[in-house]
Parts: sequence; structure tokens; C-alpha cells
Amino acid sequence: MALIVQKFGGSSVADAEGIKRVARRIAQTKNDGHDVVVVVSAMGDTTDELLDLANEVTSTQPAREMDILLTAGERISMALLAMAVNDLGCEARAYTGQQAGLKTDAKYGKASIVDIVPQRIKETLNEGAIAIVAGFQGVNVENNDVTTLGRGGSDTTAVAFAAALGADVCEIYTDVDGVFSADPRIVSKARQLKVMTYEETLELAAHGAKVLHLRAVEFARRFNVPLHVRSSFSDKEGTWIVDESSSKNRAMEAPIVAGVAHDRSQGKISVVGVPDIPGVAAHIFSVVADADGNIDMIVQNSSLSNPGISNISFTVPVEQMDDVVANLEKAQEELGFNNIQTQSPIGIISIVGEGMRSHTGVSAKLFNALAENSINVEMISTSEIRISVVVDPQKLDDAARALHTAFELDADGEAVVYGGTGR
Ligand code: ADP
Ligand code: ASP
Ligand code: MG
Repeated sequence: MALIVQKFGGSSVADAEGIKRVARRIAQTKNDGHDVVVVVSAMGDTTDELLDLANEVTSTQPAREMDILLTAGERISMALLAMAVNDLGCEARAYTGQQAGLKTDAKYGKASIVDIVPQRIKETLNEGAIAIVAGFQGVNVENNDVTTLGRGGSDTTAVAFAAALGADVCEIYTDVDGVFSADPRIVSKARQLKVMTYEETLELAAHGAKVLHLRAVEFARRFNVPLHVRSSFSDKEGTWIVDESSSKNRAMEAPIVAGVAHDRSQGKISVVGVPDIPGVAAHIFSVVADADGNIDMIVQNSSLSNPGISNISFTVPVEQMDDVVANLEKAQEELGFNNIQTQSPIGIISIVGEGMRSHTGVSAKLFNALAENSINVEMISTSEIRISVVVDPQKLDDAARALHTAFELDADGEAVVYGGTGR
């Protein structure tokens, strides 16, 4: 008998039929003799629809009230799912994030988990029942306000409970058969990966592969929770995400590049005509940090024809652009730059793979493949197992397909997408 945490994403519970289908899988797992804790997302595109509604009602969206609004989606699905499971003869109890003991800091809209006190979940399991927890939500430890963990945060709820309860596995059920070598909605020849390391998955998730929430993978790695990403629409074995030693045999035979990720969520800010003297970059980036800007890539270039002057460009998430630009403009006189140029969104294409640690020629292949498809490279950043480049956002999908082919990742058949709208 195992303790299994099962997380079902919005596309898996998009309608009444979906809820009943998921309920059957939960009941089956329980009837097989396991303890089951379920984490569920809001039905279908409910969260986006609630956001649209808020946009129609007001242009100023107080973060505290937005969190109260958005957590309503998961309350609906957890209650309906618990009722559907009860109908199948298995006792199930639904819990909000607060009732389940998920405590966060005070950052509405992007709260971090500070503690999990899963008392009621443990009692539920001890009494032989199934616990159904609302994903993506918690409670502010300072004042008991409702908080959310950021878009896609139900994955993180699931892994956090799996870690806190010492679960044997955390199963992430979604609308594709597992983690693929690229987003199957963009690259139809994407292939399903059988095993991945936490590091590879972290790099993919951090660079646009929304199949897993970044912080869920960070949690899984820190607490060594095995993740099994799979489809709720089929019984196929999905993708296992484990530590490097457990995936060693695979790593030796694996292709150099495991996957390609694309990202349209970032924008670029260029600070033009900056005096090229020590301390200016430090000053610019403290101004950016004061606006809570989350920088990914930085490029500085000094012009030979204009000595003493340089340009500094960096990327930040699109939604942070306005605040960062406003802060820089306020400090223009002190910083002494000429002007600011922005581009939003930009396209970022990344290749990721453990094999890159030990192989040469990977960058050459990447730049050749992009050049052959007339795709210009604007910025570059690398880690030991990743290369990311900024390209024209219009050409991002083409870039994903070109790199997927160049690194010999194309599958023979087409990847299946079972549901969801890709929103
Ligand atoms: P859920 O509602 O289950 O949380 P998401 O929409 O958040 O599902 O994530 C699943 C989607 O992630 C897939 O439908 C797919 O379009 C997208 N995706 C992006 N990159 C990948 C990848 N490398 N492998 C699998 N899916 C990916
Ligand atoms: N419902 C939330 C969202 O759409 C959380 C999640 O699905 O993981 O972002
Ligand atoms: Mg998701």
C-alpha cells in the first residue's frame, strides 16, 4: 500500500463528464488499496475567465481581492469532485487550501509556501477517506487572508503536500501523455520522454514549458519527491522525473538535447547611452530590483565608435515591464543614460539536456539551424545544460520546430493532445 498524491489540471476536469472520469480514477486507486490525496485545479479555463471578468469590471485590481476571486475556481472543482467520488462509494472530503493547512507569506498573487500543517488531511487518511484539496491557494500566516501561488500553482500545491506527507509518488495528471521534447501543440513531432532529471525539468519549466510549475519541480528536487507526469485521458505510463542517480542509465544513452522550450512571456528593456564607468550597472540593476524586476538575460555592449558609452539590455516578464521602466525613468538623471527602448513580448527559444555537459558543438548546431531558417539571434544566455536565445516572437514556433529537427528529436508519429484549449 502506498500514499499517492494525484493532481488533476483544469483540462482534466473541464466539464461534468471530466469530473466523473477523474473520480473513477481516484476511486480505482483507493480500491487498489492505496491512501489517496487529491489536488485539483479550477475547471477548464475558469481562472482565465475570472481574470477576464475582473478586467471588465475594473482596471485597478487590488491583489488581495483578486486572490479571493481566483480561489473561487478551485472551490467549485474540489466540491464537485468530492461529491463525484462519494457517488462511487468511496468517502471523500474536500478542503480549501486554508483548511488543508497550506500557509504562505503575504505576497498576494504569487505567494510562497512557508509551512504545511496537514493535520486534517492526515486525520482524513487515518479514517480511511480520500482528501481532496483545492490547488493554487493558501492562507497568509500574518492575517489569515486567502492567497494564491501564481498561475499554474496547483502543481506546487500537490508536490508540497506530497513532500509534507512523505508520499511515495506525486502523479501530475494533464492533457498530454507526459513531458515531451517540445510543446506538442507547436511541434507535432514532439516525442514523449520516459525519464528526466529534476535539473532538466527545472530548466524546461523555467524557460516556458508550462507542463509543470517551476516551483513544483524545485520542491520535488529539494524533498526528493518522484514525479510522474501523465494523462488523465489514458492509462499510458507517463514521464518520470527523478534525481540524477536514479536516471543514470538513461543519461548515458540519452540524446544530447532532451527538449526544446519556447517562451513568449518576457519583454526586453534597453537602456541606451549609459556612461561606461564602474558602478553604473550596479546602480541600474538596483533600480530594477526596487521595482521587483525578475531579470533573466543581460547583454551590455560598448561601442568602439563612441568610447565611454554603452548600452545595457535585459529581459523581464512582460507584466513587470511598466514598473521597471517607470523606476528607471525616475532615476534617469542620476544614471545619466540617453533613453530607454522596449520590446514586448520577445521570443525566447531554449534547448535543454544533461548531455550538453559532455558534448561539444551544440551551440554551433543551434546557430546553424537558426541561420538556415533565417532566424536572427538577438541575445544569448547559457547554463551547463541549457542554451537560450532571443529571437523574433513571430518566428518562435518555426525556431522550435527547426531546433527539434536539428537535434534529431522528431518522432515518427504525431503527439496526441487530449484536451485543453492551450490558453
Ligand atoms: P493542466 O491544466 O493539466 O495544468 P497545463 O495546460 O498547465 O495543464 O499544461 C499542459 C500543457 O503544457 C500541454 O497541453 C502542452 O500544450 C503544454 N506543454 C508545453 N511544453 C510542454 C512539454 N515539453 N511537454 C508537454 N507539454 C508541454
Ligand atoms: N487554476 C490556476 C491557474 O489556472 C492554477 C492551476 O491550474 O494550476 O493558473
Ligand atoms: Mg498546469
